[in-house]
Amino acid sequence: MKEPIDLNEFHWLLAIVQSIDVGVVVFDEDYRVLVWNTFMENRSGIQPGTAHGNSFFELFPEVDSKWFRKKVEGVAALGTPAFTVWEQRPYLLRFKNYQPITGREDFMYQNTTLFPLRSANSKIGHICLVIYDVTDVANNRRQLLSANAELQKLSSTDRLTGLYNRGHWEESLQKEHARHRRYDSTATLIMLDIDHFKRINDTYGHQAGDKAIQRVADSIRELIRDVDVAGRYGGEEFVILLPDTSKEGGRVFAERLRQHVAALKIEHAGEVLRMTISLGVADLSVSCDHHEEWIRWADEALYASKEDGRNRVTVYE
Ligand code: GH3
Ligand code: MG
Ligand code: MG
Repeated sequence: MKEPIDLNEFHWLLAIVQSIDVGVVVFDEDYRVLVWNTFMENRSGIQPGTAHGNSFFELFPEVDSKWFRKKVEGVAALGTPAFTVWEQRPYLLRFKNYQPITGREDFMYQNTTLFPLRSANSKIGHICLVIYDVTDVANNRRQLLSANAELQKLSSTDRLTGLYNRGHWEESLQKEHARHRRYDSTATLIMLDIDHFKRINDTYGHQAGDKAIQRVADSIRELIRDVDVAGRYGGEEFVILLPDTSKEGGRVFAERLRQHVAALKIEHAGEVLRMTISLGVADLSVSCDHHEEWIRWADEALYASKEDGRNRVTVYE
């Protein structure tokens, strides 16, 4: 006759639970701990003797008890498992991360499973909590995300100035134009170009020219608001999109930038060089069907500034 409980099998199961590389905790209706495996002992530093019979919440005061009780009650009532994932809740229990090579965070990321344990009479009196260490997965994912963000930034910015490159800036302009068409919002576009830039290159060299371009970019960055979108459009040509700004507001800004650049002193190889810019301003008080038309208006105003003697602002009428 076969024994009702195979003692060998029981010991094997116990050994497996002890040696497995996930946390296993069993608690009763009052959250008193009955099972506490080696993983839990090693990671929490709490000995089984201390854990047994103690309340789960007293052992881990960091656990949001209201939230956790609700979760456990759901498992007990429905008889189905519940899960937590690190993306939503980085950890249930704050364990130190023992993987310093990969670890950028000093805590262990965790996924967890809660499932009901039925007694012989099929009543659910106990809950089993399983804790998985997913620190490696989480760190890899986070590194991938930050690398993607960096790539995204690199592909949208201009190397020399750090402003948006032409492609990205034009996309922003297109979006702003679409917003205007839908909501009749105002926006103003400024286009500017360094005056007699060839002379700077020819007189002081290409490196001085690059420095001049960077200083104009710095000036733009210094004067714009957070919502404004500035880009390098070509060699020494820049564009600035001012959302929710009227033509007059755009003119005032352009004039401020013009004066700012005219006052710059650029030191290069022991010499001080100065420069001026010409600007064109175009708003959307008269609508256009396509954002390229808007660019053309600003460009025409810029061309007028050049024609009229440079170092000035022209508003497209
Ligand atoms: P204007 O007042 O009419 O604008 O005269 P300009 O000399 O500035 O006009 P033009 O557009 O003819 O000259 C622009 C020059 O800018 C030509 C090109 O060699 C130079 N350039 C374009 N990109 C760069 C760059 O990235 N660095 C440097 N140093 N020079 C550049
Ligand atoms: Mg120029
Ligand atoms: Mg030019």
